[in-house]
Amino acid sequence: MSDYILRAAAKDEQVRAFISYNKDTVQKAREIHDTSPVASAALGRTLIVASLMSAMLKNDSDLITIQIKGDGPIRGIVVVADNKSNVKGYVYNPDVSLPLNSLGKLDVGGAIGKGSLTVIKDLGLKTPYLGQTELVTSEIAEDFTYYFTTSEQIPSAVALGVLVDTDTSIKHAGGFIIQVMPGCEEITLSTLERNISKMKSITTLFDEGNTPEDILKTIFDSIPYTIYETQKTDFRCNCSKERVEKAFISIGIKDLQDILEKDKKAELNCHFCNKNYVFDEEHIKKLISDVGCELR
Ligand SMILES: [Zn+2]
Repeated sequence: MSDYILRAAAKDEQVRAFISYNKDTVQKAREIHDTSPVASAALGRTLIVASLMSAMLKNDSDLITIQIKGDGPIRGIVVVADNKSNVKGYVYNPDVSLPLNSLGKLDVGGAIGKGSLTVIKDLGLKTPYLGQTELVTSEIAEDFTYYFTTSEQIPSAVALGVLVDTDTSIKHAGGFIIQVMPGCEEITLSTLERNISKMKSITTLFDEGNTPEDILKTIFDSIPYTIYETQKTDFRCNCSKERVEKAFISIGIKDLQDILEKDKKAELNCHFCNKNYVFDEEHIKKLISDVGCELR
């Protein structure tokens, strides 16, 4: 199955559910950034949560940026998602290699270390919404549970999983976010809690052949629910020569002249998709003259 997200709700929207399968997305990220298994898991989990959160966006130009900063060897993760559920992201250090943790799992918490989680939502308003919380376990799912509950004040259950195969390719990836709105009946809440606590890990469920639809059924069980939307999701970068040019010009005419004199060319790299953009002498001269004209 290719990657997709389901948006569902129950009890007159008192419960909202988002569930996704993201194997191709995480595999693409692994290939682009040549991530080690633990870095694939850390970046993958962040891409999954961004993809799930993108299904909450309403307007075409809405964007979500997630920044994780920690004192562990990975140092940081940046992921961006748009309203069409295109996600892109990178880790500061893709080569981290750590022993498995005490549970025999990839040590994402150790790779990230202590730090903070920042969510920036650009919803077309004057100032973007910004929420920041401390990392709780640095395993990412628990950190988002804490973020939603404290920063957005929406009690949530978050599961994110990346199963890395023995050849370091991605075998399965996916996750869910279940949110309860104010006024949700106690019985619904306790049923959901019981169902979720009985579940196996999401990657085990995928590995046993379950689809997101099957897992949703397990989460709700006796609670009637409706699937409202199925949305495709993918790793996709929207960088272009024009966008990179804009960023390059923004360093200022003096720095452009310095580069022209010293190096005669410039090479800019897109952190998200690793694509290189080369500006030769002629091109830089043209940019300087264009900027000069605008200043006059
Ligand atoms: Zn790019």
